[in-house]
This record gives sequence, structure tokens and C-alpha cells, in this order.
Amino acid sequence: MLNIRGLTGCIVLPSSPCYDESRQVYNSRFNKYPKVIVYCNYTKDVVNAVLWARRERMPFRLRCGGHSYEAYSLINCGLVIDVSGLQSLEYHKESRTIQIGAGHRLLPLYEALWNEGVTLPGGTCPTVGISGQTLGGGYGYLSRLFGMTCDNLLEVEMVTAQGTVIRANENHHSDLLWACRGGGGGSFGAVTSLLFQVHPIEKVVRFRMTWEFSSLRSVVQFWQEWAPFTDPRLTSLLALPARNQGELRASGIFVGTEQELSQIIAPLRETIPPESVEVHALSWLDAARQLAGSPLQQEKFKGSSAYAYKPLSNAAIDQLVFNLENAPGQANVISFGAYGGVISQVPASATAFVHRYPMFMIHYQSYWEQDEDADKNIRWIEDFRNSMLPYTSGAYCNYSDSLILDWSLAYFGTNLERLIKIKRRYDPKNLFCFEQSIPVS
Ligand SMILES: Cc1cc2nc3c(=O)[nH]c(=O)nc-3n(C[C@H](O)[C@H](O)[C@H](O)COP(=O)(O)OP(=O)(O)OC[C@H]3O[C@@H](n4cnc5c(N)ncnc54)[C@H](O)[C@@H]3O)c2cc1C
Repeated sequence: MLNIRGLTGCIVLPSSPCYDESRQVYNSRFNKYPKVIVYCNYTKDVVNAVLWARRERMPFRLRCGGHSYEAYSLINCGLVIDVSGLQSLEYHKESRTIQIGAGHRLLPLYEALWNEGVTLPGGTCPTVGISGQTLGGGYGYLSRLFGMTCDNLLEVEMVTAQGTVIRANENHHSDLLWACRGGGGGSFGAVTSLLFQVHPIEKVVRFRMTWEFSSLRSVVQFWQEWAPFTDPRLTSLLALPARNQGELRASGIFVGTEQELSQIIAPLRETIPPESVEVHALSWLDAARQLAGSPLQQEKFKGSSAYAYKPLSNAAIDQLVFNLENAPGQANVISFGAYGGVISQVPASATAFVHRYPMFMIHYQSYWEQDEDADKNIRWIEDFRNSMLPYTSGAYCNYSDSLILDWSLAYFGTNLERLIKIKRRYDPKNLFCFEQSIPVS
């Protein structure tokens, strides 16, 4: 019989009516059955949960937005410590900083910040959690101008493996702050609050251009020589759906005027005339809402990533075409996210997020509905990523992929050794562990 004395917050057990709903995460490919889920409303609830897990020798996972690609925030036969109830938010106008509880999700956070005339660079998915995203990096349409989300992190409050609450900033536990800037979620302790610098924002200009699949070679060749090097106020992504699954799409957000953006995208537009072009100015919040799209349902998917440090050669583009022409399902797509700008102005050793100098990140994605389609879609991602390895390196830890054998080096590269030292210092007994957590040795 499970003794839950000592746990505080809202406790969900297998016998609770909301158990099935509470054990869901975004990637519905996974179906796990925790013994207990505790929704924490205060830091104290997180402390109690960590102490309880230690006492009961119960393995546990931390969960914020539940968007881990491999459902690493969920566990069979263990405890899930859910921080989504930590929803405080204070804006400090003079220092232009925000202090927030660890449970915010992206779109509601952008909405709250918009009321203060500021924002934070981050992803487009409305329901991604701020904790998981920041701890692993955080890339989005403002990243070439304002950096990764983790570059804007100034301090974290964390519950350690000993159950104590500490603050990591430039003056205290600065090694831990370094690790929280891109070293991945779930390895060092439970973050309960974050302090960020934020940026004033008003209007932005959004562009979108489409082409048919037959233009793929010329679009890739042009975009890769342009998007990572253009004006840092523009962050552009290029989506390449598999053949017969939609149009090729370049899109971007520019912080400037419509006229300036029209000039910046003119070479792309003139070199490879698109099927359609949209350029329009709008408020940043409207842009964030448009990019978020309609409310997301859970999906079955597999994703992965790699970085291109030099332009893809003709042979590499041949591989792209081959894989996109031989996709197994209805929703197979890769996208490129331009790096450069402020991302590359931070030295690779200055934060745990090591991927500072690629030209762009490649994001491999496959979605399906029926379980019997899982294997072929997962294999497609794995084969695609492997076939591109001669032309790419590394991977983004926020797009976790259990099939990357050398995942720790791929995610953290030359920063791995320092992350291991920090892990040993803060969690020597490896209490905070999962399949891809930072090891103690
Ligand atoms: C649909 C979708 C769209 C996405 N779009 C983007 C994007 O545009 N840009 C981008 O950069 N990323 C994007 N991502 C990836 C996303 O940033 C990562 O999956 C991120 O880790 C999710 O954070 P979460 O809190 O939602 O997930 P969770 O599954 O809750 O957590 C992710 C990891 O962080 C750990 N963790 C969670 N909370 C805490 C905490 N309080 N303290 C310590 N560790 C914690 C978990 O244990 C887990 O290991 C997207 C993911 C999805 C599914």
C-alpha cells in the first residue's frame, strides 16, 4: 500500500477520476502509468515531493508543459512532479526583468508579457512549457535578434536533490546557472522559478513564400546562403514537406518596417519566383497567435534534429530529395531554422547551449494516427537523419531522440564534461535521472 504522507499539492492516484487525463503528455505515442502524480502549487510542494521520493526510494520525473519528444517527463511506476501550477508572474519595469513561476506555457506567457510591452524569444508552440524549453535552449522567430530563451535567463530557483531551495545566478551557484542555460531539463534539480531579461516589442512584419516541390533544390541552395547571414532582425524558417504533402514554405518574422523586409527578401523572391508571397505588418502578439495556429491536440510523432555548419552540398541535397520523395506517411516534413545573429555572438562555452555557430538547424518530423504506422515513420526519421550525418553534426536536446546513440555528445559537445562535473556537485547520487539525463560519470 502506497504511503503518500508527506506529499502536498494536488495528488492524483490511479484510482482518481482524473488519472487518465493527468498521465497524458503531448506525444500520444507514449502511454505510461505513474504511481502518483503531484500537481505542485508552491515551491514547498516540490520540496515535499523530492523528499518523499527520496524517502520512499521512488523514481520520479519532473513535468512542466509535457512536450518532451520522448515523454521524458512521464514515468511508469513512479512519481511525476508537475510544476504547471507555479504560475506567479512579476514584471520589474526598471530592470526590464520578469520573475515567473516555473509552470507557464509559452502563448499565455507571451500574452501576459505583451500587456507590459515586452517579450522573450522562444518557440511557437502555444503549450510548450517555459521550464523544459529554457533548460534545453529555446529557439524561435525572435532568436536571431534576442538569442535563445536560455540566453535571457538570469536566475533560477531550484529544489535540489537534498530538498533544499537554492538560487543560482551570476554570483551564487553560477555553475548551476550555466548548466540551466541549455544543459537540458530534469538533470540537476527541480526549477520552481525563473528570472529573465525581457525585450520591448511592438509591431513586427511576417512573411511567407511558397514553391512547388520541383523548386526544392534551388530554394534550399538560395535559402541556406541567405537566411543565416541576413539582417539579424529577421529570423527565417524553411519547411520542406515530403513530395505531395504540401508546398515548400519559407517564413519569417522581422522586427522593423514592411519596406525594409521587402528589400531583404527581394533577392529570394527574384531568384526563385514563388507561387505565393505574403508580407504584412502586425502586432507581435497577433504574430505569436498566428504562428501558434489553432489549439493543438495531442499527436503521435517522432522528431529529431541535426546542425548544418556549412552549406549543404549537391550530394547532401540529393539525400534530402531522396528522403522527401520516399516518405512513408501523410505528414513527413523537415524544416530548417536559421541561426547566426545574436545566437552566434555568445561563445560556445559561455552557456551549456553549445550549438552557437551552425548556419541552421535541421528538424526532422513525422506524424501519424494509427499505431501500425509508427514503425515506418520512426524508421524514416532515423534513416533520414543517418543519411545526412556526413553533412551535419550535433543535435538539439529539446528535440530529444532516443535513437541517437551518442546523444550526450550530440546535444552538449565540448560542454559535456563541465555538465558532468556540475551534475556530480549538485546531484552526486543521480536522483534526477532519466534515459538522457546528464550522467555523474
Ligand atoms: C509541438 C511542439 C513544438 C515545439 N516547438 C519548439 C520551438 O518552436 N522551439 C523550441 O526551442 N522547442 C520547441 N519544442 C521543443 C520543446 O522546447 C521541448 O520539448 C521542451 O523540453 C518542452 O518543455 P515542456 O516543459 O513542455 O516539456 P516537459 O516534457 O514537461 O519537460 C521537458 C524536460 O524538461 C524537464 N523539466 C520540466 N520541468 C522542469 C523543471 N521545472 N525543472 C527541471 N526540469 C524540468 C522534464 O523532466 C523533461 O526532461 C516543441 C515541442 C513540441 C512538442
